[in-house]
Amino acid sequence: MAQVKTSSVIGMDRQEIADLVIEADEPGYRVKQIMDAVYRQRVESLEEISTLPQAFREKLARNGVGVGAAQIDNKFVSSDGTVRYLIGFADRQSVETVWMPEGDGGEAGDGSEAGDAAEHLVDDPHPRSTGGAKAFSENGGSIAARKRCATQNQNHTLPNPSYSSRGPRGRSTICISSQVGCAVDCHFCLTALLGVKRNLTAGEIVGQVCAVLKDQQVSPPEDRINLVFMGMGEPFLNYENFIKAARLLVECVGTAERRMTVSTAGIVPRIHDFGEETIRPKLAISLNASNDALRSQLMPLNKKWNLEMLIAAARNFPLRTREYVTFEYVLLGGVNDQPENAKQVAELLRGVRCKVNLIALNPGPGIDFKTPGDHQVAEFQKILRAGGIPAFVRRPRGRDIYAACGQLKRTVDLATFPEVQLQAISPVPER
Ligand code: SF4
Repeated sequence: MAQVKTSSVIGMDRQEIADLVIEADEPGYRVKQIMDAVYRQRVESLEEISTLPQAFREKLARNGVGVGAAQIDNKFVSSDGTVRYLIGFADRQSVETVWMPEGDGGEAGDGSEAGDAAEHLVDDPHPRSTGGAKAFSENGGSIAARKRCATQNQNHTLPNPSYSSRGPRGRSTICISSQVGCAVDCHFCLTALLGVKRNLTAGEIVGQVCAVLKDQQVSPPEDRINLVFMGMGEPFLNYENFIKAARLLVECVGTAERRMTVSTAGIVPRIHDFGEETIRPKLAISLNASNDALRSQLMPLNKKWNLEMLIAAARNFPLRTREYVTFEYVLLGGVNDQPENAKQVAELLRGVRCKVNLIALNPGPGIDFKTPGDHQVAEFQKILRAGGIPAFVRRPRGRDIYAACGQLKRTVDLATFPEVQLQAISPVPER
């Protein structure tokens, strides 16, 4: 697979920046000046780093060193305030990064009320109130509303007056891509249709976050921003760059470690490696099936790392205080959403310190599965909870602009032509 060689400062850690400073025979405090400018002020060129002497900036430029800021090529705004960014890199490859101004609806620790409730319920795996389930599902918006606000580019204002251009402080989430495309081939996922083009560098991963923070005019740790590595790609197939990016996001950008989550389709050896890291996000595993036969059909990688290996890795994962493993389960109508599947999942996860996020399929062109009905989703959740597994229904975010989970495929053309898009999403049941 193609790899990008870079002299971008974004993606360098303190030592690498110190090496640049030493090589130029500059004083040590230049390291902090560069780090602050790139990671905190998020400058886009060396010229903007006015604290550095002109001669030093020129020398860096002569040596082929640049800031390497990611460029926002386009952005699409959903009727629910979600923004899907198309972010471009020097080799003209691009990925999608999603801004969700109210989090993604209930990830424990995401700073949202739903998230706090989720955290509480994890401590109490037998919630007595069924009313709580409502807090974790949401009206996906009417087709008429989607027609009105289907896609808006950056020249338009945000459609929902409850969202300011800054977004509500303190409970926003950025969904980050780790590869251009994806090789894993989950059959319900639009990104899989792209195949994989290349890994992103650590700088390109961090660059997505910096670009979105700058555009949204927010900044951690002052603003509580959650990061989820759940965009395009399988982070554990780009492990070194992913883990370096996670470290930079904590140490240089200011993101709280406990506010980051990475999702893997189940690359078992890397789950073991990940558990050994000193700085790491929380772990989420994309489960999506209740037995090996079904999972191998939906996610061919299950033939290599089956459920027994996967659940053993989750069971043995070294969790921190109040931490748990999240299992994501995309419900596909008539395929994996039956009561029998729910019972099998409850049995599979018995004794694992975990919770389950249920996601009704987000539809898209080229995906043949159906979105299950609300009653099916609720029944699935009820069976899991009865089996002692905390289970939450995740509300779809940005479905009208193809920003929802499993929908990222650089659907620029679709998102630019609402009629085409609306035909494509019209079978979505009202929720
Ligand atoms: S669901 Fe994730 S791992 Fe599977 S194909 Fe899509 S992006 Fe890749």
